[in-house]
Amino acid sequence: MDKELIKKLAANPNFIAGIYNYCDRWCERCPFTSRCLNFALGEEQFADPEARDINNEAFWQKLIETFQVTLDMLREIVEQEGVDLDSLDVEEAVEEERLNEGIAANHECARAAAVYGEMVDNWFDSAKSLFEEKDNELDLKVRLAIPNTDPFQEAASLKDSVEIICWYQHLIWVKIMRAIEGDLRRRPEILNGLPRDSDGSAKVALIAIDRSIAAWGAMRSHFPEQEDTILDLLVHLDRLRRKIEKTFPDARAFVRPGFDTTD
Ligand code: SF4
Repeated sequence: MDKELIKKLAANPNFIAGIYNYCDRWCERCPFTSRCLNFALGEEQFADPEARDINNEAFWQKLIETFQVTLDMLREIVEQEGVDLDSLDVEEAVEEERLNEGIAANHECARAAAVYGEMVDNWFDSAKSLFEEKDNELDLKVRLAIPNTDPFQEAASLKDSVEIICWYQHLIWVKIMRAIEGDLRRRPEILNGLPRDSDGSAKVALIAIDRSIAAWGAMRSHFPEQEDTILDLLVHLDRLRRKIEKTFPDARAFVRPGFDTTD
């Protein structure tokens, strides 16, 4: 894809500016794919199925092209804005980033989010046999046509819960890290009174936690014998949610383009 095509796509007024900055990247479930420049670029860039496979050379070739075009466009903007790149102390900026990353990773919210990711892995590792048993149980219900049961609905609900939990398992940590690092960088929007990017990222983390809690609630009904272990996860998530709300008190009120606005 070349610069001109990107510019042409970006000029489409149907796209909601910046919608992809505060989404959960779950494009398969997103109602705004037709209004998202990021999605359109991805479709354009990776139209060839081979280019979507991380194990295929075509994928890496496309990625290199994307980086190259991005760099070209960045240089163009920098030139237009009259920024002297040579005057920037890159080493100092890299060191600052590294320090910020360390501070953010050590923040109680980030640590709790990382622990949650591990708890989910452990739970699924220990629950492998439960899923096999559930599979057999649902299969039996179908074959015997047991009255007052709906094994298909039950299977769909279980699959949905697992997908939600797995999708957000690590995204929570990623969004919290971005929120904390954003705060550390003291971005200019704070001075200008604009909505803070860190609140937007924290809001996405909170939504991911809300949905994960609901999904674990459904898992609890599918696996009542796992009540205690699931309760541990729910308590952990609820504590994390409260910590984030305390650290980013304006996060819930952050207005995400598209998701929280109407045309
Ligand atoms: S806004 Fe929707 S379509 Fe765009 S990147 Fe996010 S999830 Fe995908």
